[in-house]
This record gives sequence, C-alpha cells and structure tokens, in this order.
Amino acid sequence: MNDPCLPDGWELVVGLEVHVELATATKLFCGCPNRFGDDPNTNVCPTCLGLPGSLPVLNATAIDYAMRLGRALGCEVRPSVFARKNYFYPDMPKDYQVTQYDQPTNTDGELELPDGFVVGVERAHIEEDTGKNTHMGGDGRISGADYSLIDYNRAGVPLVEIVSRPDLRTVDHAKAYVTELRDILVAIGVSDAKMEEGSMRVDANVSVRPLGSSELRTRCEIKNVNSVRSMGRAIEYEALRHVDLYTSGDAPRQETRHWDEAGGRTRPGRSKEDAEDYRYFAEPDLLPLEPTAEAIAAIDAALPALPAQRRATLAAASGAEPAAVALVVERGDDEFALAAIGAGADGVSALKHLVNNLADGPGALSASAFASLVAMETAGELTSTQAKAVLAELVVDGGEPTAVATALGFEAVDTGELELLLDRLITENPDEWARFCEGDRKVQGFFVGQVMKATQGQADGKVVNALLTQKSTRP
Ligand code: ZN
Ligand code: MN
Repeated sequence: MNDPCLPDGWELVVGLEVHVELATATKLFCGCPNRFGDDPNTNVCPTCLGLPGSLPVLNATAIDYAMRLGRALGCEVRPSVFARKNYFYPDMPKDYQVTQYDQPTNTDGELELPDGFVVGVERAHIEEDTGKNTHMGGDGRISGADYSLIDYNRAGVPLVEIVSRPDLRTVDHAKAYVTELRDILVAIGVSDAKMEEGSMRVDANVSVRPLGSSELRTRCEIKNVNSVRSMGRAIEYEALRHVDLYTSGDAPRQETRHWDEAGGRTRPGRSKEDAEDYRYFAEPDLLPLEPTAEAIAAIDAALPALPAQRRATLAAASGAEPAAVALVVERGDDEFALAAIGAGADGVSALKHLVNNLADGPGALSASAFASLVAMETAGELTSTQAKAVLAELVVDGGEPTAVATALGFEAVDTGELELLLDRLITENPDEWARFCEGDRKVQGFFVGQVMKATQGQADGKVVNALLTQKSTRP
C-alpha cells in the first residue's frame, strides 16, 4: 500500500506505542490518589517518592483493568513478572521504573479498524508512570532552560503500554488506530483516554522502505504528539524526511525525535537506547502475577459491547452508510439511534439527522419524538429544512414534533392542494411547461420556485418534483 503523502515507489511503515493511564482511584503501588490537576506534589508518599525502605503494595483494580484491556484487544492474558528498568532521570525518583519486560500480562492481540483493516498488537504491559518535569525559561525544552520543576503526583500512576506491530501503512490508518483504541478504552471504562490531559500518550515508530520490499529499515520514534491530528502531521513529516535522506544517498539514524507543533517538524532528541542499556531484572519486591482461568473468564463475561460490535449492530438495524454508522457510534449515540429505529424511525434518515443536525447529541429529544419526526418527514408532512428547525427546538426543550411544528407554523401542504396549484401554474405558463415536457430540466426550478412562493416555502420540494415528473409523463 502506498500512502498518498509519499512519492511513488515508497512505503510507509508505522508501529504505535500508546501509554494509557488507568482510571483507578489510587496509584499502582501506594494509596496516593490518582488524580489529574491537583496542586503539585500533594499526592505523594514515601513509596511513590522512592524513599529508602518503602515497599510496593500492588493495586488489584489496576491489574483487573489491564487484563480487561488485554481481553478487549483479543490478547492472551498470561502469567507475568514485574521488572526493574534502570535509568536515571529526575522524574523517576527510584532511579528505576517498575514495568514488565519479557513476561508481560497481555500478548498477541489485534485491533480491527472500522474499514476492516487489522493491526496486530504485540503486547500490552503494565508499568508505573513517571513524574512530570517542567523546564523553566527558554522555549520549554531542557536545553536552554534556567531550571526545572518536578511534580511527583503522576509518579506511580498505573499505565498500560500498548505496543502495536509495525503493520500500519498509511497516516489515515494510524489515526484510525488511535481513535479506535481510545473508543475501546472509554467503552470498557478503564481510562478516560484524553490525549490533551496526557492520560493517553502516543509514540510513533516511523520508517520507510521501497514499495514491495519486506525489510524493516531504521526507525525513528516520535514523541510529544498531543492530538491525533498532530500525530498524523508528524508521521508524514518524518516519512518524507526519511525518503529525502535515502534519495540523497544518506540514511536516518535510530533516535528519538520530538514533534514541534508550531514549526511543523520533528527535532532530534536522545539517540535511542537499546534494551541492554536498562539492565532489566525481575522486581524482587513483587510476586509474579498468575491470573486463573476463572478470573479471565469473569473478565470476558463482564466486557461490554465494543465499538466494532456496536457498529455492526447499528449498520444492520439502520442500513445506513458505514461512515455515518461509525460517526454515530464514536459519539456514543448508537443506543439512542437503535431506540428510535425500534420506535419505527427509518434508519437511514435517522442517522442522517444524527450526523448532520444532532452533532452535540440528542439532548432533551426523546427517541420516540425523534421517531415521530423522522416519520413526519418521510411522509412529506415536513420538508428537510423544517425537520431541522423542529429538531433544534426538541433538543433544547423536549416535547413532541407535531406540537413544535404547529408552533413554528409548519403546516403541511397536502398533495391535493399542491396538484391544484401546479395545474394553475401550468395553465398560466404554457411555454415553460412545453419546454419542461420536451425535457428542458432548467425550467423545473422555475415551477418549484413558483410553488414555494405561493406556499411561503411550506411545500416539500421532493413532492413538487415528483408531481411535475408525473404530470409531464402522463399521456
Ligand atoms: Zn504514594
Ligand atoms: Mn513505557
């Protein structure tokens, strides 16, 4: 597959690493609150500050959430071992991060995108988050800063790191993967998955290769993207940078790079460490995890319907286009749509309104009122413009569409009245009518316009057009 952003003959290869903060009440190894936005260094204790002699106590809910996430991604949940990843960085007060290395909890899953493309998930392991550095002075980066502040509220917050296989070949699929993953996380209730608050953080491993080749060339890991959109821009920039390097006889170096949103470019960070630099070893203060088959079965039984299933259900019930179905599920309005369809609404029309006129959700509109409105429109009692105006009222104040339509003065013009009106217009405009009957469709607008003028816009354009065609083909 060739992403449209790359020149002919080149293929994009992307794998994503997504860190997700779990929405537990407390941190992974201590009882400190897991809460975003509190005053710096208020949610801390000897354990998450890494003070000598403190010991970790594992948070059972975090493990449950991590396994739930694994099962939602179709992973195998296995016995696992926590490991120490040793490195010195001031936001990591213990000088090591507790993570999972060669025996992660979740392995070998997959994520299916709305268009059916399947992305492999290599692993989804549990680890603790670091604190947060803020570099003061300069442009916010560590180089050029006068001093740095550290907030340890985030240190020890439970994370799952979801590592995809390098299966993504287009920027659009990379974006769809992140969006779908976010929807799954929210659906199963393990994270609020807000990129803007950092509870979902995406690193993109990007490389390119000649189209048709299966090699994996040197990749760069892009950090610091804080929206799906900027991730897309960053991947595109980086891929083109690699193509330029290869084309000029050079090659990229394996390194971490940071996305500069304002500059629209990636900048080099540290050259990437290899696993051996971290001196991993099994965490001696924690026991291995050995989830039982019963525990895993209980998690499976409690999983709610996932976005993919919800899309399939809504598509079958509505008969609407996949894009409309996907958008309605993404907004979480599928249950409402199904209720309206259950109350007799035409699925295609209902979804069209949900997509175009109910972008902020149904509000005070009830599913049965919505169904009545769609029925009125389908029967030609309301034009689509009038239906939209009625919906706008119902969303705010609730109530029944018939009452609102009357209050807005949308009296339906019945077909009999329209026919009489058309007959009169035809008699008054014989030349135009002759042209219409000879197939000159330009005069169709003339007749529709006259009808609208006479009815003060109350007539349904679709019905008028149907009547015109009927009359012109009648022998
Ligand atoms: Zn603590
Ligand atoms: Mn990680």
